[in-house]
Amino acid sequence: MAYYNSIICRYNEIATKGNNRSMFENMLIRNMKRMTKEHVSGLNFVKMRGRIFIHKNEFDCFTDEEQTYLKERLKDCFGLDSFSFCIEGERTIEAVLDHIRNAVKPLFKQLECLGRPIRFRTRARRSDKTFPLRSKEIEIETATMIEKMIGDNKVQVDLMNPDISIGVEIREKNSTIFLETIKARGGLPVGSNSPLLGMLSGGIDSPVACAMAMKRGCRLDFLTFHSYPYTPLESVMKVWRIAKIINKFQPHGVLYACNLSEIQKLIRDNCDPKFRTVLYRRMMMRIASKLCRKKHLYGIVTGEAIGQVASQTIVNMSVIDRTVPDLIVRPLCGMDKLETIARAENIGTFDISIEPMADSCTVFAPPSPVIHAKLHFVEFEESKIPNMEEAIQKAFDEIKMVTDDGLTDIPTYDITE
Ligand code: ATP
Ligand code: MG
Repeated sequence: MAYYNSIICRYNEIATKGNNRSMFENMLIRNMKRMTKEHVSGLNFVKMRGRIFIHKNEFDCFTDEEQTYLKERLKDCFGLDSFSFCIEGERTIEAVLDHIRNAVKPLFKQLECLGRPIRFRTRARRSDKTFPLRSKEIEIETATMIEKMIGDNKVQVDLMNPDISIGVEIREKNSTIFLETIKARGGLPVGSNSPLLGMLSGGIDSPVACAMAMKRGCRLDFLTFHSYPYTPLESVMKVWRIAKIINKFQPHGVLYACNLSEIQKLIRDNCDPKFRTVLYRRMMMRIASKLCRKKHLYGIVTGEAIGQVASQTIVNMSVIDRTVPDLIVRPLCGMDKLETIARAENIGTFDISIEPMADSCTVFAPPSPVIHAKLHFVEFEESKIPNMEEAIQKAFDEIKMVTDDGLTDIPTYDITE
């Protein structure tokens, strides 16, 4: 890898923010620091007109290991649109030419084996309009220098399909040269919006929905329901493995686990079977809502999509919505399954999600669930459940926290009621 002494970070949506822009930039920097400090400490983050530069102390170069690590981490930092490892130097054409000379010589050498002229292009941007050369002139100057340095017959300018693309940016205080632009995930920095509770099942959809809410700036804690002993506790650990993957996008979110089996038995024993699924979901919402109050979370995220399964028809979703006053965020609402699967693969949860595991929702599931549940029928079914509120409170009081060691009691300092 080339010797890089800086990283140029670009953002997109944050640039559209008016007076709040600085708040978003600071939050992005805070997140970048937090996400990288484990392995690369002592980084300096400098805001410079629509860009953030990252340096090591004394402008030391990043080692190969640091580059590999930082690439992985920064990609997952919501708010960043793209970034490039670069050579940052003085704002003169001489410095630019010098740095390009050093950076690209070894690259052209490597590509000699192609046995044909090496195609290259230079792309210049001049955000400092007082710089004496225009963008086009910088491109010509740098390309001419490369042709002279490598030899006319060995290289060929190709704007459309180059083997090597050299980026040059001239700014008020510096110049940068980079060879690669690494795409990040865009969105807004986590923490720039209010925190939410993500309802995480072991399925494909809910982790994608949670990651999408994080992409909009919300930090998440998670809640999963299990039906032990009707479902194994491994199902909770499967959800924990998923939670750990999506926690790479944010400061550690806690996974809470609630046993729904007693409530499910009450529903089984007292209500019309065809309403079971909708009734389960309403119970989940009630417990999630209590947890939101307790943990100061501002809404509930689910992986529902319109029409995907019986409980996700518009009518059933609105019956589920009416259980609690909380905002219910459904980021997947308009997505089809293939899009969701592609995103699950992209964030790295798909392989775990498809591991077969019993699902709490399917315990005592009826053969034909109601597709368009009427609210008054559902409420009538609920009225048949003896001591429903007490059962909900009991399930809520017994919520556990999940760690690598399994289910543990929630530490008392964690209760903010
Ligand atoms: P997923 O793939 O996320 O499980 P799904 O398509 O299987 O979704 P449902 O099982 O109807 O759909 O669940 C819809 C949403 O309800 C889930 O995306 C999740 O947010 C929430 N949910 C369902 N089951 C559970 C559970 N056991 N624990 C926590 N949340 C759940
Ligand atoms: Mg499911």
